[in-house]
Amino acid sequence: MTAYRDIVIAGGGMVGASLALQLAAVLPQTVSICLVEGFPLPAPLAQGKPEYHPSFDARSTALSYSSRLVYEKIQVWDELREWLCPIESIHVSSRGHFGSSLLRAGDYGWSALGYVVENAWLGNALVQALYRQGRVEIISPARVAAAIPEGRGMKLRLEGGAETVLETALLLVADGAASGLREQLGVAVQEKPYGQHALVANVAFAQPHKGCAYERFTDQGPVALLPLLASSPGEHRSGLVWTLSAREAMHLQACPEQEFLQALQDRFGYRLGRMLQVGERHCYPLSLVQSAEQVRQGVVVMGNAAHSLHPVAGQGFNLALRDVAELSAVLARGASAGQALGDLALLQGYLRRQQPDQDRTIQFSDRLPGLFMHSDPVLGLARDLALSGLDILPGLKRAFVRHATGVAAMAGAPGDTFEKTSDKTGTGRRNG
Ligand SMILES: Cc1cc2nc3c(=O)[nH]c(=O)nc-3n(C[C@H](O)[C@H](O)[C@H](O)COP(=O)(O)OP(=O)(O)OC[C@H]3O[C@@H](n4cnc5c(N)ncnc54)[C@H](O)[C@@H]3O)c2cc1C
Repeated sequence: MTAYRDIVIAGGGMVGASLALQLAAVLPQTVSICLVEGFPLPAPLAQGKPEYHPSFDARSTALSYSSRLVYEKIQVWDELREWLCPIESIHVSSRGHFGSSLLRAGDYGWSALGYVVENAWLGNALVQALYRQGRVEIISPARVAAAIPEGRGMKLRLEGGAETVLETALLLVADGAASGLREQLGVAVQEKPYGQHALVANVAFAQPHKGCAYERFTDQGPVALLPLLASSPGEHRSGLVWTLSAREAMHLQACPEQEFLQALQDRFGYRLGRMLQVGERHCYPLSLVQSAEQVRQGVVVMGNAAHSLHPVAGQGFNLALRDVAELSAVLARGASAGQALGDLALLQGYLRRQQPDQDRTIQFSDRLPGLFMHSDPVLGLARDLALSGLDILPGLKRAFVRHATGVAAMAGAPGDTFEKTSDKTGTGRRNG
């Protein structure tokens, strides 16, 4: 049986679900939107901790101010508020070197430099918002198994729950970094393996983080600790993203807890006191993956399928959300001008507008770990001076913060329009 939908989103991960919400908010009611996700999505009004989902997994995401704006527009921010830990400061340092810098939200008149949310809660909030909105047809669990160009659009074969054929004017490919659909469509990728893994886990400390995120560069790779909300009274936890060689990451993922805590304590130091406990440990191989094409007639490649970044600067998802906002705005303008949604010129217009942001963000994420890992004494000195310089030169520091928070990428959003301290719209919870 063949059915027709104006837009089909393949992949209901953090990007696909955000895309569905955003499109439903800006496109006319007459445009039919369908989301196909391979894994079972959280049930409506799930109680307690949401079940495992590969996109809404054990990681945490640092949301930038640009992401906050996107979620405010589609009324998801209020839903998320309960699960957000505001980043009030960022401490950047380099192990074994003199340079360090403290970036404080208050110095810019802002109440937060970003917000940390556990992916499980973010995913759950997005899916619940989709159920409430009731505008997007959700087919899950089911996979888009084949995509074939047909006429001005695409013909899709679905596998799973209800095996069927869908025709669509516009296929949005959001099936992740190892995108099977991208490969099937013959879209080439440029891949730059970093030869490193990210080891991710939640760690309990003796002292409270006071809303501080730590970025510590070591000769083996950066260690990032993101402040998390306490999950029980008196608990102080942070989300660890530790970049290591594949061999060391595998060892530390499997070793006894005390050995792991000792190794991390050696690398990070005692800024948050003694490390008491570590939760489940997960490893992710790191590479920069970029799709050589992002738009074709009737197709746009989005999220990790379009660009998968080094996590050191916490930019991948924030960039993907800015792509989502721009694509939705372009499609809304196209729809009101009577243009076909899959029109190549319309889709190229989206990419032209978003390309500079993508290039800037990818370069920033790509260069940062390399700069700090360099063993060359001259570059080492430059790095130390850069870190000290952040503190000495307010202009440089401001530029760094604008970039890290995504503000630099937002048209017409200078730092001064960032949320002011007087705007008490943080979260109701207390920082652990
Ligand atoms: C360790 C780590 C830390 C990070 N921290 C940050 C951070 O702090 N800030 C930030 O901005 N970014 C961060 N990122 C990046 C962020 O995680 C990614 O940008 C984000 O997960 C991309 O989501 P996605 O929906 O594109 O892909 P995915 O999460 O991979 O989702 C793809 C979805 O598609 C589904 N799927 C696959 N194939 C099909 C098919 N054929 N049909 C239907 N469905 C299909 C899958 O089941 C899955 O749900 C981090 C990344 C890592 C690795």
